[in-house]
Amino acid sequence: MISPPRGELLRAPLFHTPRNPFRDSSALECYEDGGLLVIDGRVAGCGDYASVRAAHPEIPTVDLGGGFLLPGFVDTHIHFPQLRVLGGLGRSLLDWLEHCALPEEARMADHAHACRVARGFVHALVSHGTTTASVFGAHFAPATSALFEAAETAGLRIAAGQVLSDRRLTPELHQTPERAYRESSLLIERFHRRGRSLYSVTPRFALAASEAMLEVCQTLLREHQGLLFQTHLNENLGEIAEVARLFPWAADYLAVYERFGFSRPGAVLAHNVHPTDSELDRLAASGATVAHCPSSNAALGSGLFPFVRHIDAGVRCALGTDVGGGTGFGMLKEGLQAYLLQRIAPSGMVLDAGHLLYLATLAGAEALGLGGETGDFRTGKSADFVYLRPLADSPLAAVLEREQSPQQVLDAIFTLAGAETVREVRVEGSVVFRSRAAENQ
Ligand SMILES: [Zn+2]
Repeated sequence: MISPPRGELLRAPLFHTPRNPFRDSSALECYEDGGLLVIDGRVAGCGDYASVRAAHPEIPTVDLGGGFLLPGFVDTHIHFPQLRVLGGLGRSLLDWLEHCALPEEARMADHAHACRVARGFVHALVSHGTTTASVFGAHFAPATSALFEAAETAGLRIAAGQVLSDRRLTPELHQTPERAYRESSLLIERFHRRGRSLYSVTPRFALAASEAMLEVCQTLLREHQGLLFQTHLNENLGEIAEVARLFPWAADYLAVYERFGFSRPGAVLAHNVHPTDSELDRLAASGATVAHCPSSNAALGSGLFPFVRHIDAGVRCALGTDVGGGTGFGMLKEGLQAYLLQRIAPSGMVLDAGHLLYLATLAGAEALGLGGETGDFRTGKSADFVYLRPLADSPLAAVLEREQSPQQVLDAIFTLAGAETVREVRVEGSVVFRSRAAENQ
């Protein structure tokens, strides 16, 4: 992490969504010659360069012509121990867990290995422009500590927690409820609200957690202020049938979590590919957020996300990459995948670039209770942003040579900008990633 200068005015085309474009058609704000004023790590102004400059003539300008400024991405669903199982194609959820994910997650018992993976994982996030992430830690407390430490060293903003499970996985990944309570309590005391870190209570999913384990999660949420919560919901039809068998008293999958008070603001429930109408209505009323992970849903054959039903019911939605069931760390790619799948879904919707940017930034910040801190460029927020600059001779550079509207430019960025386009990433004004290509310029 490199400390920022006290004040600087960054000049580049910029985009952000300070409002929800699913409710407000003018939510996407674009400035073709934009100015982002950063003072002491906070956004002090955002708009047309000339007007921001006129209001603050004393602040030096940094010219970032040739690139674009976007708010840092917020990945609302990702698994730290699954970095090395990316690319396991051809399986469905429960089969993939058994053969790909769980054996790799068991290796997190080796602390040196966990520290190495944590560093690689955090680097992968920041090098793709992600500045905030809601992360499933490991089943092991020391490995989960390694994740928090690596994020803190890098300057990344994370919400994370030890993954809790006492059945149906492999024995080495199970904790007793007593051990889960003891270890999670210590992690919460150590990392919750330390620097940019938040603690998120993380039962793996209802399938792998007994009622006693879910009660531990409920107790943790009661005993500590401001904790977040994350788990999986309605991902796969086989999983849903098994949850119904294990919890015969529950009317549906969500009812299991509701019994323990988990469906609430600050809760991120991943997938929800197969919800009932009643579940959608209750989710909307609860203030919980669904993390939509389109690459993972397609890669594992989980199904087509019913986006229109979520929006019509008023359910909060954000985006997650779901590494390693997903296909990588890129939130722009995840946005494109959401767009593509909605184009072919039987009752899909046409998502535009404003929707995608919101889902990849402010929607995620709001999901984590950080809507006042990050996710867009409103004055007073943390200066969390990504500077994208297409490589010379790349298809994106060719497309951008044409005269286009700002919305078309953002369409092209979502379609064509990969990790090689990410030149610099800042959190609270401090550099958390700078590409070699940028350093050579
Ligand atoms: Zn997941």
